[in-house]
Amino acid sequence: MDRDLDVISLKAGYVVPSPGEVIEYGRVLVRGTKIVEVGPYKAPDGGGVEIDLGDVVVIPGLINAHTHLELTDLEGKLSPPKGFAQWLRQMVAFRLDDRNGDLSHAVKRGVQLSLEAGTTTVADIAYTNDSFNILPRLPIRKRVFKEVMSMDPNSVASILEDAIRVLSGFPRENLDYVGLSPHAPYTACEKLYKGSALFSQGQDMLITTHICETEEELEFLNKGTGSLADLLGAYGFLDNWKPPGTSPVSFLKKIGALTKSPWLLAHCNYPRDEELQIIKESGSSVVYCPGSHHYFGHKRHPFPRMLKEGINVALGTDSLASNSSLSILDEMRFVTANYNEVSPRDVFEMATVRGARAVGMGDRVGALSPGLEADLAAIELPGNAGGSVLDRMLQPDARNVFTMVAGRPCYDKHGLFAEKKQ
Ligand SMILES: [Zn+2]
Repeated sequence: MDRDLDVISLKAGYVVPSPGEVIEYGRVLVRGTKIVEVGPYKAPDGGGVEIDLGDVVVIPGLINAHTHLELTDLEGKLSPPKGFAQWLRQMVAFRLDDRNGDLSHAVKRGVQLSLEAGTTTVADIAYTNDSFNILPRLPIRKRVFKEVMSMDPNSVASILEDAIRVLSGFPRENLDYVGLSPHAPYTACEKLYKGSALFSQGQDMLITTHICETEEELEFLNKGTGSLADLLGAYGFLDNWKPPGTSPVSFLKKIGALTKSPWLLAHCNYPRDEELQIIKESGSSVVYCPGSHHYFGHKRHPFPRMLKEGINVALGTDSLASNSSLSILDEMRFVTANYNEVSPRDVFEMATVRGARAVGMGDRVGALSPGLEADLAAIELPGNAGGSVLDRMLQPDARNVFTMVAGRPCYDKHGLFAEKKQ
């Protein structure tokens, strides 16, 4: 960073440092990569640069707790699914197609779209190594999970060995964090889940998986039948597998994978009562992906009940293979419009402080306060809308105009920062 840009004072119509706290006519003072002061506006008294962001609300950078950046170029390419298994068939075909080549371009575009939308942290699930190769060079905070799949216990050792090699080659500093992701109970066998959990616990590393995403998953695990079994069986993926005869989260508990450290559980669309209890006791977080959930036509998500019962719930976009946007702000709007029982404050929490906790960065990001990383977004408010600042921020025409990650402006719609640099 240029020397004169080491101290940045951001002036804004509103600052919302955390849920429920609104500062009118405020400022955020940033030194280097960290926030040093948040409060009512004061003119700068020393060196540095002041940026007047105008009639915006400055908020903590949004956290996307579940996405697949390498699938960004699949936007609009898959036919609308008649069911989850049919969509999965298209994904398997994509994965098996050698012609896809290097997906770095998709990852880059996914990061660009995220930064433009005010997202400063992504939990990215990466099946190929392209994310691992390109992401350290891109200015977004990220936890990249190496995705592993196998329903054959005999192949688990070599799959884990390869995955661990990839993780060990990824920097773990500044903006970069890693993790392991056994894909889902219909693509990862007991041995793969156990091995992944053991490795992650030993490394004190967050682990994630897709779970309870469909009703078919329950039938698959209980009886080994249904559309998922038909699809995966046809590829020969299930030749060495037997159904465990249990529900998905109970399966994780039964094999001992849920002990010791919390998980990041993507979807959890159809948990049974006892599974909610297991999730709560394990201290794991759930990621609700509203756009993707809607795309598949699932029943209403039980996240309001989860929140009431003390489970941490974050928001994710999933990928553009099952959603039309990588914007957490869009997801917040969807939730606000469709779930009257949750308040704008709940929604704001899920996108910030709860998201940060879910991805294991609760002590670094998710709020604006001295000592935390200077990750923030500035949402331009629509002119005539009434209501609270949060209500206005969630209006369809409110737009992110400025994104900062670790003290560095990464998106600046009006070129305010560029003007100051001259
Ligand atoms: Zn996913």
